[in-house]
Amino acid sequence: MNPIEIFQESKDYFIEELFDLLRIPSITKNSTDVKAAAEWLKNLLQKTADYVEVIPTEGNPVVLAEWKPQIQVENSPTILVYGHYDVQPPEPLDKWHSPPFEPEIREGRIYARGVGDNKGQFYAHYCAIDCVIKANALGLSVKFILDGEEELGSFHLEDAMNTRREFFEDVDLIIVSDGPADPSWKPTLEFGARGIQTVRIELLSANSDVHSGNFGGIQPNPAWDLLSILQTMRDENGKCLIEGFYDDVFVPTETALKAAEDLNRDPETYKKQLGISYFGEEQDQPLTHRVMFRPTLNIRGFKSGEIRENAKTIIPSEAVVEIDVRMVPNQIPEKIEILILNHLDMLRSQSERMAQVLDRCKISFGASFHPLFTPLELPWTEILAKVIKEGFEQDPVKLPLAGGSLPLYSLYKVTGKPIYIIPYAQPDQANHAPNENMMMEWFEKGVKTSIKLLQKLGNIDLSS
Ligand SMILES: [Zn+2]
Repeated sequence: MNPIEIFQESKDYFIEELFDLLRIPSITKNSTDVKAAAEWLKNLLQKTADYVEVIPTEGNPVVLAEWKPQIQVENSPTILVYGHYDVQPPEPLDKWHSPPFEPEIREGRIYARGVGDNKGQFYAHYCAIDCVIKANALGLSVKFILDGEEELGSFHLEDAMNTRREFFEDVDLIIVSDGPADPSWKPTLEFGARGIQTVRIELLSANSDVHSGNFGGIQPNPAWDLLSILQTMRDENGKCLIEGFYDDVFVPTETALKAAEDLNRDPETYKKQLGISYFGEEQDQPLTHRVMFRPTLNIRGFKSGEIRENAKTIIPSEAVVEIDVRMVPNQIPEKIEILILNHLDMLRSQSERMAQVLDRCKISFGASFHPLFTPLELPWTEILAKVIKEGFEQDPVKLPLAGGSLPLYSLYKVTGKPIYIIPYAQPDQANHAPNENMMMEWFEKGVKTSIKLLQKLGNIDLSS
């Protein structure tokens, strides 16, 4: 039997096994359950892998596994598959139609917390390896890295990888199946994601809120002052005015531009979906560029005083703004921090009044993730597009930059190898939400894609 026939024959068994994993409530913060899931995975992987290790970290463990080739193919590549076995909390529980940790199939979908994000997706790769091994046909080395902290930001992934650098030395490419497929419901091949850097500016301008009649005209209003700082950061056409902000922005290649164009995103669909009547940010840039190839400076929250039912006639004593910068390839969080600080220094030198305001500002930078981008021109692209087409019986959409794959930069940093994201969960998987689900059809097509991937890459001679 070939691997796909083996899979068809043992499908019920595989689904039962996946259900066992889904029953473990490995919510990132529940370290006992997360560790139980790591142990469960170790036992599973040990059945067929040549090497399995659970690496403890200061947070949750990282699980490694390796399968060596069964048939010798000269210079075949080594692939690394990344997945994560921690899950989001299931709340609100009353919104679930079946308990989140009691998996159930209804109308062709598996319902369970973590089925799409991400247990079902990496388990599809595991099924493929298992079936190819049973067919005695594994022609390349396959490695697994399973993260137990993705939902909180994978803070210990890089440290864990650094303790086993030799494990990653021969990796040629990295495959990640996570997130939902493109909203068009076509199978999807993604090449990266924008990065993020957050910053908070807190302006405490007085001892307390005061009566705006009694002290209006004397006590400075921090909302006005913070707004004047923000005004200097952006012009009326949505361009960021922080000096050097666009200096490192990558110039997308023809291939990347064409892929973005092929997505055929319709402005009217965006408007309808978002309930908007006009678009934000850089007015002189095409929409697909704004959503993919351009950085943004976004006010994610602004707070000062009280409004609505809590409204008071006061001069507030404090104003706080939080900004997130979405970075595109070649921009790095460390430099964005410096540019923002330089901008504030420049304002300080412009007037004594502004210097006094800035003296009372507290500026802090939050967690950041580097942008990630694999050039579309690498030869892997066409190979992967082909195996996805075989697995899903449809040409994949090529998405140059997507959202939501933040911690993957560690994988690139340690290996220096290209990363491709091939989501196996359908667009409405409801990850992070009640009734998370994965369609059986998508799971099976995922397994098929993984089998084709192993077969195709197992026949490649890298030296030729
Ligand atoms: Zn998630």
